[in-house]
Amino acid sequence: MTRKEAFQTIIGTAEAITPKLVEERHDFHKYAEGGWFEMRTTSLIARRLTNLGFDEVLLGDQVMKRDVRMSVPSDEVLDAEYARALAQGADPEFVPYTKGGMTGCIGILHCGDGPVVGMRFDIDALGIPESTDPDHMPCRLGYASVNNGFMHACGHDSHAVIGLGVAEVLMKIRDELHGTIKLIFQPHEEGVAGGAQAIVANGHLDDMMYMIGSHATKRKNEAPGTALVPGMHGSLATSKWGLVIHGHSVHAAGCPELGHDALLAAATIILELNAIARHSAGATRIGIGKVRDDSVVNAISDEVHLDFEIRGQTNELCDYMLGKAKRIIEHSCAMQECTYELVCKGAAESFVSSAPLLKRIRRVCTEDLGLLVSAEDSMKGGGSEDCSYFINKVQANGGESTFMRVLTDMTGVAHARNYNIDNEVLIPNAVKAFCGTVYDIVNDPDALIKKP
Ligand SMILES: [Zn+2]
Ligand SMILES: [Zn+2]
Repeated sequence: MTRKEAFQTIIGTAEAITPKLVEERHDFHKYAEGGWFEMRTTSLIARRLTNLGFDEVLLGDQVMKRDVRMSVPSDEVLDAEYARALAQGADPEFVPYTKGGMTGCIGILHCGDGPVVGMRFDIDALGIPESTDPDHMPCRLGYASVNNGFMHACGHDSHAVIGLGVAEVLMKIRDELHGTIKLIFQPHEEGVAGGAQAIVANGHLDDMMYMIGSHATKRKNEAPGTALVPGMHGSLATSKWGLVIHGHSVHAAGCPELGHDALLAAATIILELNAIARHSAGATRIGIGKVRDDSVVNAISDEVHLDFEIRGQTNELCDYMLGKAKRIIEHSCAMQECTYELVCKGAAESFVSSAPLLKRIRRVCTEDLGLLVSAEDSMKGGGSEDCSYFINKVQANGGESTFMRVLTDMTGVAHARNYNIDNEVLIPNAVKAFCGTVYDIVNDPDALIKKP
């Protein structure tokens, strides 16, 4: 197969399978599964990779280090989700591996000598209910989420089927591939609760020299028809925290002097977190997501739950915010003679995409795939991404990595209940960009010899 024939196969196959992938995306959307609950989704992905003839299909403990996961729900909740996944058509052969929230799947192709190339597709839904507006397209077409309280409002249903499309196209050009190709279907990106970190901890990226992740992104000022932005820079480092403050409850009028007021400690913490001096070296953020106090009006509060997150333009700026936050919590609790527990619920690093890989993606898209690429190589984002752990690990190996933004028209915004995107365009563009870039890398004599 010549290079031209390979690209014709990539383009032709990506377009031919798009209707099927759109159908599959509707299915994933309908059975939306939150982080550590992606049991049905994982089992169906494993079935597809197995049927396609992947050399290895990894599941369960083969994918993730169990203890690195954060925000893991109770066994009762996970068992109920397992029963739900089975009832909703999970593949009976593969779903047992996901028991206890060990979700996610890695498909591997061994194609002889050459570099290890990885791609990451996140598969989880958000813990928000979907809009019931009859004009919302998933409602109109009958694929709105049936899992109450969970919705694919960030496009990870599309990401999952893009991964399946990439798997199918790569099998069509398998004889033209070299090295080792890993497709990582990652659980629990939302809330960055360790889905990526637990995969990195299992060593799957130790030998990886190229890595590409991507996200569906709303088209803004780009020229009409622009398919993608090759990279990202400026993604924020973040960590999410659960704080429980323990006070001492007494009658609020009878003997308030004997109480230790957890609510007052929480109030001080909320104000002081927001008053942390902003750092001159770059952007920082603080967000108080949730405060809960179940005490009554005539008693001193004895327990308050407070969730917050911090972000920084760099890992160092995030650490600066965390250091200040910890000091505020310690001393605010001490002032009220309260004790506390502070638990990390999620984290992501900042990252910068590798310039040579951005150049390669731009060249492949414009010269080989006929895709329009944004004038800017790299986009700034206000959010955070745990694909950062993959990107930074590969760069630490001496390799190249990036996070593409694949552009689409969008209704609503990400994380909104009426979120919806144009998948007929997004899916084939993304499949072509991933497969074309991988083909280009593994057929590049300079890339073949790259090792960590
Ligand atoms: Zn999201
Ligand atoms: Zn997302």
